[in-house]
Amino acid sequence: MLKMGRFDLGGEIFYGLVDGSRVSRVEDPFRSPVPSGRTYGLEELKVLAPCEPGKAVCVGLNYRDHALELGLEPPEEPVIFLKPASALAGPGDFIEYPDMSRRVDYEAELAIVIGARCKNVPAGDAPEYILGYTCANDVTARDLQAKDGQWTRSKSFDTFLPLGPYIITGINPDRLDISLYLNGEIRQKSNTSNLIFKTGELVSFISRVMTLEPGDVILTGTPAGVGPMQKGDRVEVVVESVGTLANTVR
Ligand code: MG
Repeated sequence: MLKMGRFDLGGEIFYGLVDGSRVSRVEDPFRSPVPSGRTYGLEELKVLAPCEPGKAVCVGLNYRDHALELGLEPPEEPVIFLKPASALAGPGDFIEYPDMSRRVDYEAELAIVIGARCKNVPAGDAPEYILGYTCANDVTARDLQAKDGQWTRSKSFDTFLPLGPYIITGINPDRLDISLYLNGEIRQKSNTSNLIFKTGELVSFISRVMTLEPGDVILTGTPAGVGPMQKGDRVEVVVESVGTLANTVR
């Protein structure tokens, strides 16, 4: 199991492996995350989103509990949509509440980080193309999602894709607790065992539609309990063995 992040040291941006409070710089996190020998104290670095996705492919309605809550039948195949790279935000960054919306929701999600370019991957081979997992918040302008009838605007505002803090490799993603806390109060609580389409099936399905590239992410869907955030709220996505992603709305 490795814990890999992306860091900013006075404008110099690099990837590194985290071990306690030390960070070992790595030059090629996707092909061979071998430490270069340069190390830093975590406290001297700003932690950025752990990768720079060319695209974030998101899955709608992928938890049994969330489908039940909405009174909807589970879908027969994954329903997917995109968030643009420009929506990316890092751990601790602000989520900017857009003027266009009156209702902005959190959605706690497990994110898959792609490690190698792939296309038409059989589900059983998906682990070969997955670098690891991180936490995501699929921030959504719920009023605009309903108003527009399609999801591009509601999902794509700048800062609507918080990711992080780190990519965790070598874990089994199929039985992890996932929770969301709003100002310290629990609002979502589930387990990835409730995913309708598992991580391998998602990589396979999406790769039959589009080529996946290193650093691309797949947001696997949110469990029951989605709800609104207000300016000033602190929101935390917690995934067992993966970490805690905290952001504040402004
Ligand atoms: Mg979502």
